[in-house]
Amino acid sequence: MENALVRVMCPNLRCRRILAVPVTARGKSVKCRGCGALVKIPDGNKPAQKPAEQTEDASDIIA
Ligand SMILES: [Zn+2]
Repeated sequence: MENALVRVMCPNLRCRRILAVPVTARGKSVKCRGCGALVKIPDGNKPAQKPAEQTEDASDIIA
C-alpha cells in the first residue's frame, strides 16, 4: 500500500492539526504545515498505545 496515508496529530497543543503523510514517512519526522513543528511519524503498524502485557502467571495473584 504505497499510497496509504498515516494520520498523525500535531503535538503542538495550539495547533493540533491532523497531518496525513504517506506511510513511507514512517519513522521520520515531518514538518507541520500549520505551525512548522516537527512531528514524528510512528514507525510500524502498531498503534501508539500498545496493550498491556498479559502476565501468564496472573492466576497466582488471585487468592
Ligand atoms: Zn502544528
